[in-house]
Amino acid sequence: MFDIVIIGAGIVGAMLARKLSQYELKILVIEKENDVANVTTMANSAIIHSGYDPLPNSLKAKLNVLGNKQFDEIAKQLDVKFSRIGSLTLAFDEKQLETLKELQQRGKENQVETFILNKEETLKIEPNINDNVIGSLFAPTAGIIDPFNLCVHAMENACENGVILHLEEEVIDIKKEDNNFKIITNKDEYLTSIVINASGYNADDIAKKVEDIDWSINPRKGQYFVLDHFDDNFVNHVIFPLPSEKGKGVLVSKTTSNNYIVGPSSEPCLKDDFSCDKLTLDNVRNSAKEMVKNIPFNQTIRIFSGIRATSSRHDFIIEPAKKYPNFINIAGIESPGLVSSPAIADYVITNYISKLINLVPNKNFNPYVRPYVHFLDLSIEKQNELIKKDKDFSKLICNCEKVTLGEIKDVLNRYVKPSTLKGVKKRTRAGFGKCQSGFCQSNIIDILSTFYQVDKTKILYDKINSNILFYKTKVGENND
Ligand SMILES: Cc1cc2nc3c(=O)[nH]c(=O)nc-3n(C[C@H](O)[C@H](O)[C@H](O)COP(=O)(O)OP(=O)(O)OC[C@H]3O[C@@H](n4cnc5c(N)ncnc54)[C@H](O)[C@@H]3O)c2cc1C
Repeated sequence: MFDIVIIGAGIVGAMLARKLSQYELKILVIEKENDVANVTTMANSAIIHSGYDPLPNSLKAKLNVLGNKQFDEIAKQLDVKFSRIGSLTLAFDEKQLETLKELQQRGKENQVETFILNKEETLKIEPNINDNVIGSLFAPTAGIIDPFNLCVHAMENACENGVILHLEEEVIDIKKEDNNFKIITNKDEYLTSIVINASGYNADDIAKKVEDIDWSINPRKGQYFVLDHFDDNFVNHVIFPLPSEKGKGVLVSKTTSNNYIVGPSSEPCLKDDFSCDKLTLDNVRNSAKEMVKNIPFNQTIRIFSGIRATSSRHDFIIEPAKKYPNFINIAGIESPGLVSSPAIADYVITNYISKLINLVPNKNFNPYVRPYVHFLDLSIEKQNELIKKDKDFSKLICNCEKVTLGEIKDVLNRYVKPSTLKGVKKRTRAGFGKCQSGFCQSNIIDILSTFYQVDKTKILYDKINSNILFYKTKVGENND
């Protein structure tokens, strides 16, 4: 019997699990994928939005602003790369400048400080912006983060504090049993006092398992380009166009790993359709070129897409089921869901969970995750010290991103460990560079097959059935 079952290990489920691990509770997180953060949390713009843009008094506005304030501490506790680089929203004509002023007013109502910059001020801090810009809205509290590792480390910290995580287990039904719920998965059944539905764009399907609902999720896709490291200062802020009813528009930003990201588009799509298409990406490229000149698209190393859980209410839906106060839906968590996630967790605990269950503090709670090794960021002295302790830090596995065997072994010796090539790549950056794992892939397959003691043909690139090797082509004395 569990106190709380959380369905979904994206950033919403992970942040809530971590905050709840401050209390003496028996918590289970059930995730259908073979890793955490494998759906929307992995594929987004990675911006810690300042919060000037959501409609005042909406849940998006309130939780964005409250969430943003928590990120300095969270990044430190969870050892995640985060940088408050600020954002610039651009105006290219007088009408757009008027809209910037309206946005600034909206920011005031949301209690977010912003500044209107004129043409010269804008171009002084961002010389690669097109010369026809006439002004911009500067939001200094906006930042960039590594969303995948934010989620992995949050879940890691939750597990270190007693939360149980089941991966590769899909919730297929939910039944009411007296005052509790029986969660039925493809592997087992669990009784729980409280259910949290944090299943991303599947939240409407999960909510419907207990009652009829008057809202829906209408998924919208966003497609992106990722550019290689080419110039550390090409742009130094998150560069936005004016937002529209479709979203925040195509942005240009550096990432925490000094790559550049350009996107996203915004079009209706089917759930689970992560395909990218040339026409949409051409439009993304053209929109970006209207803001920033000479973007070197020949440095593209990757395209990808993410799916927004846009709700029919156009705001976050965070409320109990109509019939059941102990079944709590957290739905419609589209942008700014990442930045809002810690505040969403506080909101759910304060308004709902604390009224259902006695929250006794967990005296052993430790908010700090066991520190990760970032070998490349260390001084030569520290690198040598580490190599003396463990020779694996002298073995370079990924030449493009300079990732050592020691770092890969470190992530394999944690609660929330990778089982796939993509899991290793996203945690350590091995395979993230120019060759996109062309050179290191076979080494990482060897490392995973040795660690899990399975044949190399069993190692997956990412999701189920994404096997890389199928059979041996040659069998000889030294050929395994
Ligand atoms: C294009 C795009 C750009 C964005 N940019 C930003 C941004 O810059 N800043 C920002 O703050 N936000 C941004 N967002 C929003 C942000 O990414 C999301 O709000 C956030 O990731 C949602 O997290 P989640 O945990 O709700 O969903 P998810 O990450 O999708 O997690 C839900 C989890 O539930 C699991 N699940 C589903 N069904 C089941 C089941 N039946 N059984 C078990 N598990 C199940 C899924 O596998 C998944 O892992 C963006 C989103 C998109 C798509």
